[in-house]
Amino acid sequence: MTLAGQASGAGRVSADRERCVGAGQCVLAAPAVFDQDEDDGLVHVLVESPSMSQADAVRDAVRACPSGALTLRQPAA
Ligand code: SF4
Repeated sequence: MTLAGQASGAGRVSADRERCVGAGQCVLAAPAVFDQDEDDGLVHVLVESPSMSQADAVRDAVRACPSGALTLRQPAA
């Protein structure tokens, strides 16, 4: 898991599908940002640049992911 940046916006979200184990915690935490593949259950990032209002949910999802597949990066200033 990588968690960086605190200030403006949620930053950019990415997911490593090689690491994802399909646990679905990200979808529970932030259903507007993450989805799971209907076939293999692996994560899809629906919104790569979440809004401020989605920031807390995205951070919760990054923390909750059991495989460390999610990364949240603050954009370069
Ligand atoms: S919480 Fe992590 S392991 Fe589970 S579906 Fe989301 S990215 Fe994959």
